Amino acid sequence: MEFKNSQKLYNKGLVNLVGAVNSPVRAFASVGGNPLFIKKAKGSKITDVDGNSYVDLVLSYGPMILGHRHKKVQKAITKALKNGYSFGASTKNEIKLAKIVCDAFPGMDKVRFVNSGTEAVLSGIRLARAFTGKDKIIKFSGCYHGHQDALLVAAGSGLATLSLPGSKGVPEGAVKNTLIANYNDLDSVKAHFEEHDDIAGVILEPVAGNMGVVTPQNNFLKELKAYLESKGALLIVDEVMTGFRSKFGGAQELFDVEADITCLGKVIGGGFPVGAYGASNEIMEMVAPLGGMYQAGTLSGNPIAMAGGIATLTELKRQNPYERFNEVAQIIEVFLLESAKKYGVEITVNRFGSMINPFFTNVTVTNFEEAQTSDTKKFATFFWSMMHNGVFLPPSQFEAWFLSSALSEKDIEKIAKAIDKSMEAVSKM
Ligand code: PMP
Repeated sequence: MEFKNSQKLYNKGLVNLVGAVNSPVRAFASVGGNPLFIKKAKGSKITDVDGNSYVDLVLSYGPMILGHRHKKVQKAITKALKNGYSFGASTKNEIKLAKIVCDAFPGMDKVRFVNSGTEAVLSGIRLARAFTGKDKIIKFSGCYHGHQDALLVAAGSGLATLSLPGSKGVPEGAVKNTLIANYNDLDSVKAHFEEHDDIAGVILEPVAGNMGVVTPQNNFLKELKAYLESKGALLIVDEVMTGFRSKFGGAQELFDVEADITCLGKVIGGGFPVGAYGASNEIMEMVAPLGGMYQAGTLSGNPIAMAGGIATLTELKRQNPYERFNEVAQIIEVFLLESAKKYGVEITVNRFGSMINPFFTNVTVTNFEEAQTSDTKKFATFFWSMMHNGVFLPPSQFEAWFLSSALSEKDIEKIAKAIDKSMEAVSKM
C-alpha cells in the first residue's frame, strides 16, 4: 500500500494550512506518519487519493451513520440545493428537523440549531448559567465537549492524543469556573458541591467516546441526576456523539435518564455542519428572542444541512439499525478478544452500541486515568496494520471506532482478518 499522493498533498498543504489539516485529530500525530487525503467515499468504504480503499470506521467521527452518500440523503440535499443555499430567514425544514429531534428526547420541548458540536455545548453551558444564575460548571476528566475556552481542561479527544493538559491561549479567568471530577465517581462530584454553592450544573458525555469508549457504570447517570436535582443544579448531557447513534433517543433513552439540557451534533446533520441544544420550554424560554440569553448564527439552520439531517434521521428511524449495531459490535469485540488471546496481547475492549475500541492494557477502563494505562505504541502498530489491511480507524487510542448501517458481511470479514493480522503485528513488537 502506497501513500505517495497523500504525501505530496501533505507537503503542499503544509504551506497554507496548519499541519495540512483543519482539525488536529486528523493529523496522525500519535501514530507516527502523515495525514491521509481522501478522494471519495461511498457506503461503508472510503478511498484515499492513492486509490487505497478502506472499510471506514471513522465515519467523519460519527455523523455518517448510514454510510457515505446514502441514496435518500443525496436525493434530499440535491433537491434542497436547487432552492438556494442560505437565506438568513426561516425555512419549513427547520421546523421539521426540530420536531424530529424534540420527539426523540422527552425532556426537550424546544431546540436551537447551531453549526457545530462546540457551539451546541458552549450555548448549552451559557443557558445553564443563565437559568440558574450560577457560574460554576463541573466537567469530567477525559470528556471532550468541543474547543470552547471554559471546557478545554482535562479534555479527551485531540488533547488526550497530543498529551495536552489544556490549551495555550485560554486565559485563567475562562477556566476559573470549571471544576473537574472523575468519570463514574459521584463522590468526586459531591466533593465540589460541598466546597462551592454556585454550581450551575454538570456536563458529561453520557457514554464517553473521547477517551476511547468508556461506559457509565452501575447507576452512575441516574444517581448523578438525582443528586443534582437535590442540589438545584442542572444535568447537561452532551450527546453530540451518542445522540441518534446508540438509540434514536440517544444514551438518555437507553439509560432512562432525562437531561435538563441536551447538546447534539454530528448525526443530526448527516455529514453537514449542524449542532443543536434543547431543553424544556421553561429553560429554552431564556434564549433570545424569547429571553435574555443571547446566541445567534448567520448560517444556523442552513437549508442544505437541515435537508441532510431530516433525510438521515428519517432513514435511521426506518432502518432502526440499533440491534444490528449491538450484534456487529459484539462480533468485533469477540474478534479482538480472541485474536489478542491467540497472540498473547493484553487488551480491554469497551463498547456501547455502535461505538467500540480496544485499549492495550490489562486494566478495566472506567475513567480517563485507566484509559491512559493503554500502551499507545501498541495502538500505533495496530493502527498501521489495520490501514494496510484495508480498515480505516481514527488515528488515536483515545477515539471511538464507529459503525455504520452500510457495513456488509464482507466488510465484517475484512475487519476480522485485519484484526488478526494487526494483533499478530503487535505481538511481534
Ligand atoms: N462534544 C462531543 C461529545 C464531541 O465528541 C465533540 C466532537 N468530537 C464535540 C462536542 C465538538 O463537536 P464539533 O467538533 O462538531 O465542534
